[in-house]
Amino acid sequence: MKYFDQDEPPEIPSDLFVCPICGAQVEFSEINEYEADTGKVTNTGFRVTCTTEPDFDDPDFNEWMLGHFSLDWMPLEMKIYQWLSMNYRVKQ
Ligand SMILES: [Zn+2]
Repeated sequence: MKYFDQDEPPEIPSDLFVCPICGAQVEFSEINEYEADTGKVTNTGFRVTCTTEPDFDDPDFNEWMLGHFSLDWMPLEMKIYQWLSMNYRVKQ
């Protein structure tokens, strides 16, 4: 088991998971909930995004969001959750 700081989530290996829309690498944008006694991130306690996501104030941001998020992300997030909970815990 590996441990990480909540503010510094592990890198998501691109040989295991890629963006379902464009095939780019994905990353954790946020880890916001984990079990206090074990450090295990809950299945809704993280957010994953594509590394091509523009900054929030970028003029292309809204268009990017519309084109980039769909139900295709759900199975990916589930697999990432399984991978995360098998390998990682939040350091406390
Ligand atoms: Zn993408």
